[in-house]
Amino acid sequence: MAAKDSIQEPGADFIRDIVRADLDSKKHKKVVTRFPPEPNGYLHIGHAKSICLNFGIAQEFGGQCNLRFDDTNPTKEEQEYIDAIMADVRWLGFQWDNLFYASDYFDQLFEWAEHLIKTGKAYVDDQNQEEVRKNRGTLKEPGKNSPFRDRSVDENLDLFRRMKAGEFPGGSRVLRAKIDMASGNINLRDPTLYRILHAHHPRTGTKWFIYPSYDFAHGQSDAIEHITHSICTLEFEDHRPLYDWFLENLPVPSKPHQYEFARLNLTYTLLSKRVLTELVKGGHVEGWDDPRMPTIAGYRRRGVPAEAIRDFVKRIGVAKANSVVDLGLLEFSIREVLNKSAQRRMAVLRPLKVVIENYPEGKTEELEAVNHPDKPELRTRKIKFGREIFIEQEDFMENPPKKFFRLSPGTEVRLRYAFFITCKDVIKNAAGEVTELRCSYDPATKGGNAPDGRKVKATMHWVSAADSVPAEVRIYNQLFSNPEPDAANFAAHINPASLEILKEARIEPALASASGEPVQFERQGYFTADGSSTPQKPVFNRTVGLRDSWAKEQTKA
Ligand code: ATP
Ligand code: MG
Repeated sequence: MAAKDSIQEPGADFIRDIVRADLDSKKHKKVVTRFPPEPNGYLHIGHAKSICLNFGIAQEFGGQCNLRFDDTNPTKEEQEYIDAIMADVRWLGFQWDNLFYASDYFDQLFEWAEHLIKTGKAYVDDQNQEEVRKNRGTLKEPGKNSPFRDRSVDENLDLFRRMKAGEFPGGSRVLRAKIDMASGNINLRDPTLYRILHAHHPRTGTKWFIYPSYDFAHGQSDAIEHITHSICTLEFEDHRPLYDWFLENLPVPSKPHQYEFARLNLTYTLLSKRVLTELVKGGHVEGWDDPRMPTIAGYRRRGVPAEAIRDFVKRIGVAKANSVVDLGLLEFSIREVLNKSAQRRMAVLRPLKVVIENYPEGKTEELEAVNHPDKPELRTRKIKFGREIFIEQEDFMENPPKKFFRLSPGTEVRLRYAFFITCKDVIKNAAGEVTELRCSYDPATKGGNAPDGRKVKATMHWVSAADSVPAEVRIYNQLFSNPEPDAANFAAHINPASLEILKEARIEPALASASGEPVQFERQGYFTADGSSTPQKPVFNRTVGLRDSWAKEQTKA
């Protein structure tokens, strides 16, 4: 995907068009949106799309956006997730106007359920789950009415109140709306409003033995909060008639409207909380914030700036048809932001020792290195040069093919900010592996240019052997090796090379006490100190690699 073709000006999607029209026509005085996560896992980049949309619209149109936890299923929800979601929304750069919980509305929802019973529009069904499922019918066949569908209002009220009081075992009965078992829309075939669940709720404790369904809680919560535009993903399009049915049949204080947009799908990525939960619980990754996870916490730990995620979301836009976005576009956004902000440093990931034979023993000298090529205000720093240095193993070949311009026996290359060196000799171990190079240097080339104007074909990064410090560098690759991994069989598609740990890397000494700011390791990519990094044991995560073409240009410089 060509990134620049998909850049979207703010305000240029169909939902913003609707909002603008509704404000212009005075249908609404103020736009009110909400982001409604279920606290049953950490937020992923798909949620970021929804967050940027809901909070973004409120910001752009001078409205309001609520954070509402859809905490209607206490068996799967935890305080840890609530805390993580709030931290992630803030980190993405947004602040909610109100913090709400669907559980704040449990009393009101219960009252409305009784209202439906009293108006003959809801009944208690004693069928078990299996029977309910069987009698729901299929897309081709209508469903069958429950034998309990015509209970009297009094009997329904009595049973429902006893469900609430905890008199019946979990799963033994449900409250259903009485709509139409023959409806072409299966969501309207007497959907469940309440189920019995003897579970402790993180907020309401042991008060409730019954919990509302997503459908019964969602639209009514929107109505209570006077949400004007209830924005959700396309899977809920078929739920909209039910969403509207509740609003029409209940004495709600406002009538929100649901709009659906295409969810984000990314190549090499699964964005489903079920799968992400299994990845964590099954030990396939280190946790929700494992830098290979497509979670906000994972990206943050990896060093991805919030700005890059917002930029990515803006580029992909908001559409009404589902599609799969190239992961490369996310990486493009990350590089765009980091290229501007990240300071340049030198680090050697897989070191090969070089001894410069004509450099005096014991001597060191300081060289001037640029911190950012486009930002002179970030100035320069001093780096130390000495008789022994490290270069990248892959920058040397004993028997190079024609197009290999880096170091090989007899060739001369430039060491970035330092000197030209020429390889004189190759030292190997008993196994025949190259363990050390013996080189010479030309003192007249200090700073990187030869007074006689002679050219070299490669510039390589390096670190001083005496002055650099060891570090662990973690190279993250795609978690799945298949561009469209199968959610049902995700374990089979896990990339065995998703994490490569380099324990022998060498970095400029000042990097050892680096903060969480991403830096560019020249010619390698962008890297960020891991949360576990200490000056004694520095650990860096690769945030994203450099584009190949870019890296090659640097080499030729
Ligand atoms: P998942 O589909 O990953 O299991 P979910 O929809 O169950 O997530 P919720 O916590 O209910 O997770 O989602 C909160 C909001 O985020 C919803 O409005 C939902 O539509 C939106 N959302 C979830 N996944 C995506 C996605 N991939 N792209 C855009 N929006 C999403
Ligand atoms: Mg959901």
